[in-house]
Amino acid sequence: IFKSYRRGGLFGTRERISVLKDIHLGLEEGACVGLLGRSGCGKSTLGRIALNLEPPDAGQVFYQGRRLETLNREAYREYRRNAQVVFQNSQGATNPRLTAGEIIAEPILNFENPEKKALRRRVDELLERVGLASADAEKSPRQFSGGELQRICIARAIALSPRLIVLDEAVSSLDMLIQARIIDLLLELQRELKMTYLFISHDIRVLLKVSDRLVVMHDGRLVEQSLDMEAVDGFTHPMFTRLLEAIL
Ligand code: ATP
Ligand code: MG
Repeated sequence: IFKSYRRGGLFGTRERISVLKDIHLGLEEGACVGLLGRSGCGKSTLGRIALNLEPPDAGQVFYQGRRLETLNREAYREYRRNAQVVFQNSQGATNPRLTAGEIIAEPILNFENPEKKALRRRVDELLERVGLASADAEKSPRQFSGGELQRICIARAIALSPRLIVLDEAVSSLDMLIQARIIDLLLELQRELKMTYLFISHDIRVLLKVSDRLVVMHDGRLVEQSLDMEAVDGFTHPMFTRLLEAIL
């Protein structure tokens, strides 16, 4: 995958900055792949491209071995349904005019046509699954704490039992105890629903805990990749070793 952006700003030039430089990344079914990198290195851009929220300049995204462009309408819909996302700043990403229940129900309504009662039951089940109460369905996203709001977004992301969730700094803004609880919830759901995670974070501690395999990104390139967490001991990239030293 290659991706560049036009440099913006008041005196924007035609100069383009290269954000992703020859990235090749496979996500193994059922694995939690940790994507580590410092701010601005291109992690979210890669996540958005994997979700087809924006196109790469060059390169291909494959879903179940098939290039996205070659999928017919029905197969593309399947991909959309099966690739979900949880962002960091859910307060900004959730529509304040919707209730929590409506936010969770949205993907269901996009892909299915449930009866009102059945939908309500499913939303209740999803709320319960993420540790919230049925009454929370009526609240506005503004009425939740950061951790609770992440739970709402997780409920929404798992509503259709997707195969893949891109977690883009999904726990990064939470205090450490809430963070640990949300991580436990995510890992429990992953096991239960057999999902694949692309777990994006700048926090090496979080990724060492959750990842089945870790990839390290620096300045638009993958500079380290492991097949398992033992191989991480052999990572020598200076940015990585500095991060590791900082937490020891
Ligand atoms: P963070 O850890 O801060 O979230 P990141 O690794 O997710 O950072 P990206 O958001 O992917 O980094 O951004 C990578 C680079 O691309 C940055 O320099 C950013 O300014 C630039 N960039 C991202 N999106 C756009 C855009 N839509 N238009 C122009 N530049 C962009
Ligand atoms: Mg980002």
